[in-house]
Amino acid sequence: MRQVRTTCAYCGVGCGIRAEVTGDRSVFIKGDPEHPANFGKLCSKGTHLGETVGLEGRLLHPMIGERRAGWDEALDLVAGKMRDCIELHGPDSVALYVSGQLLTEDYYVANKLMKGFVGSANIDTNSRLCMASAVAAHNRAFGEDVVPVTYDDLDEADLILLVGSNTAWCHPVIWQRIEAAREMRGTKIVVIDPRRTETAEQADLHVPVAPDGDVALFNALLVEMVRRGVAEEDAPPLPHRPAAGEKGGVGPETFAALADLVAAHSRMVTVFSMGANQSIAGTDKGNAIINLHLATGRINAPGMGPFSMTGQPNAMGGREVGGLANMLACHLGFSDAERADVAEFWQAPHLCSGPGLKAVDLFRAVHDGRVRFLWIMATNPAVSMPDAGFVREALARCETVVVSDVIVDTDTARFAHVRLPALAWGEKDGTVTNSERRVSRQRALFAAPGEARADWAIIADVAKRMGFAGFDWSNAVGVFREYAAMTALSVKHGKVLDLTDKAGISDGDYEAMVPFLWGGRHPMAGRTMRHVPVEPRTRAADPAFPLRLNTGRYRDQWHTMTRTGLSPTLAQHRREPLLEVHPADAEAARIVDGALARVVTASGKSVFRVSVTDAQTLGQIFVPMHWSDEMASGGRGNLLPDQSVDPISGQPGFKNNACQIEPVASDWRAFLLSGEAITPEYLGWWSRSAVAGGWLYELAGDGAVDADVLLPAGERIEAVDMARGMRRLAVIDRGGSLIAALFVTRTGQLPPRDWIAGQLGQNGAALPELLAARPSMPAPDRGPVVCVCHGIGTNLILDAAEAGAASVADVGRACGAGTNCGSCRPAIARMLREWRADMTPLKEPEVAQ
Ligand code: SF4
Repeated sequence: MRQVRTTCAYCGVGCGIRAEVTGDRSVFIKGDPEHPANFGKLCSKGTHLGETVGLEGRLLHPMIGERRAGWDEALDLVAGKMRDCIELHGPDSVALYVSGQLLTEDYYVANKLMKGFVGSANIDTNSRLCMASAVAAHNRAFGEDVVPVTYDDLDEADLILLVGSNTAWCHPVIWQRIEAAREMRGTKIVVIDPRRTETAEQADLHVPVAPDGDVALFNALLVEMVRRGVAEEDAPPLPHRPAAGEKGGVGPETFAALADLVAAHSRMVTVFSMGANQSIAGTDKGNAIINLHLATGRINAPGMGPFSMTGQPNAMGGREVGGLANMLACHLGFSDAERADVAEFWQAPHLCSGPGLKAVDLFRAVHDGRVRFLWIMATNPAVSMPDAGFVREALARCETVVVSDVIVDTDTARFAHVRLPALAWGEKDGTVTNSERRVSRQRALFAAPGEARADWAIIADVAKRMGFAGFDWSNAVGVFREYAAMTALSVKHGKVLDLTDKAGISDGDYEAMVPFLWGGRHPMAGRTMRHVPVEPRTRAADPAFPLRLNTGRYRDQWHTMTRTGLSPTLAQHRREPLLEVHPADAEAARIVDGALARVVTASGKSVFRVSVTDAQTLGQIFVPMHWSDEMASGGRGNLLPDQSVDPISGQPGFKNNACQIEPVASDWRAFLLSGEAITPEYLGWWSRSAVAGGWLYELAGDGAVDADVLLPAGERIEAVDMARGMRRLAVIDRGGSLIAALFVTRTGQLPPRDWIAGQLGQNGAALPELLAARPSMPAPDRGPVVCVCHGIGTNLILDAAEAGAASVADVGRACGAGTNCGSCRPAIARMLREWRADMTPLKEPEVAQ
C-alpha cells in the first residue's frame, strides 16, 4: 500500500486527500487532516472518488474518426489542421475551449499556445459558466481578480450571508466549516436564495429573494445601513438610492430581520456562488455585495469580506494563468505595456492584440463558420452550455473538432474528428488553486493507462509541430517554474498575484510542496478598492412562458456525470433528474408527483420526473444540470436556458429563464436491471443510474414493451398479474446468477428497486423472491437512501426520531447516519424538523414589496 497526498477532483473547496493506493486501480480515500482547506473532512463525492477510478469507458489511445491512431499521426493531423486553418482563414478561425478540470500547468501551456503563438485570444473555459461574473466584479472593485478573504474568515465571522449558494450540497465541506463556526461562536447564517434549499432550511433566516432580485436587495441593505449609521453616509456616490424602496421581492418583515442581523454583526462574510453569478446581471450582483462590504468597512480584517466560491477544482488556477478569453496570463490585461511584457517573456512572435471570444460567442462563431477549428479539453459543452441544442448544431458544422478527454464516448466526443486520450484525476501531476487562493498539489496515484498523456504535454507537442519555440518542458514542474517566474510581470504591474518565490523550485521541493496561499490572508489591505454603483436589471416577462426556470446541482453528482455517474453509492441520493414544482403550479398544469412532465422554453424542451414540493416558490421551477444523452433520454436541464449573457462578464444567465410545463402521458412505466449499459433510444423515456455490477433503468413509454430487445439471452422466468397490469421478468445465467430483470406496470405501482438491484450478479435468491423483488423474509424497508456512506434510508432515521433522537448527532448515535462524510446531515436535520413540526400550523405568507 502506498499513501499519496493529493487534492479532490471536484469542487472549488479544494479538499486535501490522503489516498491509500491498494492496487493497480484501487484506492482508499481519506481526508487529509493537515490540509488547511478541509482538515480531514470530505463530502460524499470526495469520499467515493475511489469508485470512479476504474478504466470503464476510458479513452486509452488516439482516435481519428472511429479508427485507432498512433500519437504521431494524431498530433501531426491536429497541428496540420490548426496551421492550415490559420494560414487560410487567420488566427481567429481557431479556438480552444478548456476547463476548470485542467491543472494550472495544462491551462498555462494552452493559453501560451493560443495567445502567444497562434495570435488569437480565442481560448475560453467552462469556468465562464461558473464564476466569470465574480471575476468581473473583482476586477471592477479591486482592479484585479482577487478574492479578499480565506476560509479562516468563515471560522471567525459572526454573520455569514450565503447568496445564491446551496452550500450544503455544492460546497459541503465549507458548509461543515460554517456549521462548526455556528457551534463554536454562535455565528448566524442567512441564506438569500429563491429556493428553500437544504442550506436554507438550516439557516437562521431564509430570504426568498426574487430571481435576479439580489442587486435591489443589496442596494436596499446598503441604504438601510447608511440610515442606521452602520455604513458611511458619504460612502461613494449612491445613484441607486431612488431604487432602494424595492427590495428584490423580499417582504418587509424578512427585510427588517435581515437588516437587523447585518447591522448587529460587523464580522460578516458574504459567500456568493452560481446562484448570483449565473445571471444576466451577475457582475452587478457581485459588485452590489462588495459595495455593502466596502461601505460598512467589512473587509480586510478577520471574519469579514465578500467571498466568491468557485464551482470547479481549478477555476482559480485557470484565472491565474489567463484561461479566460478576456485576460492575459498572470492577471494581466491587454494594454500596450502589459502585452509588450508578455510578448517579451514568452518571446512570442504573434501575441494576440485583444480579448477573444467568450464561451457563448465562441460557439456562435463556430455555428456561423467564423471558427473552423475547435479543440475542446476536459469538458462536455454539448451538455453543459446553455441552449445546448444550438451548441450541438455548431459542433456538427465545424470543419475540425478535436476533443481531449478521458472518456471515450461523451455527448461532445460524438462530434469529434480527432479524440486524444488525456490523463484522469488519479493519474495527473501538477497544481490546482482553490476558492481561497490556496495552491495545492495534485499527485498521480496510478501510472498512465493505455496511451493517455498529460494535457500540457499534448498541447506542447502540437505547438512544437507547428514550429513554435518555448514548449520544451520535460515535466510539469518545468511548466510551473515558468508560470511562477512570469508572475514577476503581475508584480511589475501592481497586482497581488506573486509566485516569484517559487520560480526556482527544485523538482524535489515541487514534489513535496505543501499547500500555500498566494496574496496572504487579506490581500486587498492597503490597496485601492472601488465602489461600483449598480442598478437592478432582470429579464422581461413573457406571457407564453409564465414560469421561471432555475437550474442547479445535486448533492452527490458532478457536472455531466461522466465520473460521478459511475458510482453506485452516489447514485442512491437522486436516481433520476427531477422537475421540482410548487403544488399550485403543478395543479394548474395538471401534473402530479411521480409522473412525467415536459419543461418548455423558447430554446428547447426536455422531460423530467415530477417532484411536487413547497420548497419551490410559486411561479418558479427547478431542474438539475447534470444529465446527458449518455444517462437519459430526457432530463436535459441545459437544453432549456437561452443564450443571454451578462453584458460585462459574458457569463450565461442559466437562472431565471421563462418557461412553461405540461404533462407527459405514457401507457406504461418500468424498471430494468442490466449488467450491461444499453441505450434504449426506441423507448419513450429512460434514465439510468449505476448499481453494483450494472445499471438500473427507469423507463416509460407507449404501446408494447419489447422484452426481447431489452433483455439478454439466458434462462428467463416470468410472472404476469393481469389485474394489476404488471409483468415481471428475470433472467438467470447458467450458474444461477441474476443477469437482468424487467418489471413493467400499466396501471399499478412498481416495487422498490433496492433489494433486487442488490441481487444483480448474485446467486442464491429463490425465483419467487426475484419475481416479488423482495426476500421471502423481508428486511425492514429502509426507504429512500439519505446517508449514502452507510446506506441508511428515511425509515431508519424516522425510527430514531420516534425513539427520542432530538438532534443529528442523536440520529448518528442511534443508526450511524451522517457519521462519515456528513453530507447528509442537512437532510437529517430537515427530517427531524419536519417530524417535529407535523402539528405546527403554517405561517401566513408575507406580502412582498
Ligand atoms: Fe471534493 Fe467535496 Fe471537498 Fe468539494 S467539498 S473538494 S467535492 S470533498
